[in-house]
Amino acid sequence: MHLVTRVHWENNREAQMKICSMCKQSLPLDEFYRDSSRACGRRPACKACSKAGLSKAKQKAYYQANREARNAYGKAYYQANKTQGKGHAKRSLKRSVDRLDDTYIKQILVKFTTLKRFQIPQELVELKRLELSIKRKTKEMLDEER
Ligand SMILES: [Zn+2]
Repeated sequence: MHLVTRVHWENNREAQMKICSMCKQSLPLDEFYRDSSRACGRRPACKACSKAGLSKAKQKAYYQANREARNAYGKAYYQANKTQGKGHAKRSLKRSVDRLDDTYIKQILVKFTTLKRFQIPQELVELKRLELSIKRKTKEMLDEER
């Protein structure tokens, strides 16, 4: 009997607790301001939050309301940046290829040898450039013959 009473008392005490809508803490009802316009008779936020967090709550509401718009803007910005970046990379690669510059030659050497970029001597770059020039020239000549 004693135990039942105790459990009942605990439940009752539990019922006097309320979860604050802002800090999400379970607090005694005394920690909430009375609000007769609400069914439960108390404000949804605890006293501390009501005092301190009003502007924070507004900020949060503003943030939530603008999230969609901000996300859309962010995505558009990211996409524009990405495509611009890609285009730029493509253009600069084409320039490298046209000029047979060191970057491009080294790239090929890295691809077709076991050498790392920093291990490639300038001499090898020059030779490869020469080889590529010969190939290019040959192709041009063949193309002209046709
Ligand atoms: Zn609170």
